[in-house]
Amino acid sequence: MENYQYPDEQGFFGQHGGIFVSETLIAALADLKQAYQQAKHDPDFWRQYHDDLKYYVGRPSPVYHAKRLSQYLGGAQIYLKREDLNHTGAHKINNTIGQALLARRMGKKRIIAETGAGQHGVASATVAARFGMTCTVFMGAEDIQRQAPNVYRMKLLGAEVVAVESGSKTLKDAMNEAMREWVARVDDTFYIVGTAAGPMPYPEMVRDFQCVIGQEAKIQMQDAIGRQPDVAVACVGGGSNAIGLFHPYIQVTETRLVGVEAGGLGLNGTQHAAPISSHSPQGVLHGFRSYLMQDEHGQVVSTHSISAGLDYPGVGPEHALLHDLGRVDYEAVGDEAAMNAFHLLCHQEGIIPALESSHAVAWAVANAPAMRQDQVILVNLSGRGDKDINTVAKLDGIIL
Ligand SMILES: *Cc1c(COP(=O)(O)O)cnc(C)c1O
Repeated sequence: MENYQYPDEQGFFGQHGGIFVSETLIAALADLKQAYQQAKHDPDFWRQYHDDLKYYVGRPSPVYHAKRLSQYLGGAQIYLKREDLNHTGAHKINNTIGQALLARRMGKKRIIAETGAGQHGVASATVAARFGMTCTVFMGAEDIQRQAPNVYRMKLLGAEVVAVESGSKTLKDAMNEAMREWVARVDDTFYIVGTAAGPMPYPEMVRDFQCVIGQEAKIQMQDAIGRQPDVAVACVGGGSNAIGLFHPYIQVTETRLVGVEAGGLGLNGTQHAAPISSHSPQGVLHGFRSYLMQDEHGQVVSTHSISAGLDYPGVGPEHALLHDLGRVDYEAVGDEAAMNAFHLLCHQEGIIPALESSHAVAWAVANAPAMRQDQVILVNLSGRGDKDINTVAKLDGIIL
């Protein structure tokens, strides 16, 4: 791990990543890469970014010792990295602040974004308002039906929401449409990708903007327990909250890293969203190559998870590499275990977690009891669950 230096010049993380897009986008991505490399080495850029995270987002987010939950489980001590306390309720805002600052630097006045559950759409609409830009969010027509409150939030923030009627009318179709729109209006438009995926330079850029999670956690854990945790765990959709926690820990070999994919209804068949744990082959989607859930003809399959934010057939290329290298263990947690963890955290700690984050909590619930009481699990609580209460109520047979 000493020489871990990715991506390479071509945007590859080992065998994964790269740029697989049409001719028109090659030039736009090259411009973006150049602008980002300049910003990355400009202390003024990072000063502005950290100022916004401090005064607008409310960082640093605390690490919190979940004592009652730990005691209830009777094993390892569980600490939560509270990304749920950020403005707009999740880690997504760390990335949209960074990309909006880059858009401003590039003189772009118009932002576009894709969204599934609506969290990234809300975070994009928020920064567009904050920086005085216009914002168009592409969202599958099916998701618009399922996520009405977030659609209204985006509109309140001044964004236009475009319904995407193609394919399964969900996140992957919204991302296709956003890329198509970017091709058509590359001159005045900045595309804010919501996770650590997509063509180079997005996976690197999103990772860098989310690394604040792991950087803070390292200092906070040292303060709290005088050392680093035995395990750090995060849920993996496209992989942005997880890579933000993991990347600063890659060299911290005493800390085991665990990425939790959505096991849905089980790993047999396609009613899940766990491309790594289900041993999916490599494939190309949305401009990059990685492990990708496909049928025997190489067609991308439609996936299932109780949590819309994890319901994606691919995974960011750096996670694919970290799996190949054996540095991060990827495991699947299903709908039911995530739901149980959701309720447990509500009752034991007075925290309503996002259903995505509940997958990471569920891993701790399953594994803490077999660990010693002086061992420590750090869970990335990527977001709050207010957005999910309709889903949970429906599953519990309650109509709100
Ligand atoms: C979007 C989202 C996720 C999944 O996205 P990643 O890029 O994998 O982090 C996880 N948790 C919450 C709360 C989200 O909103």
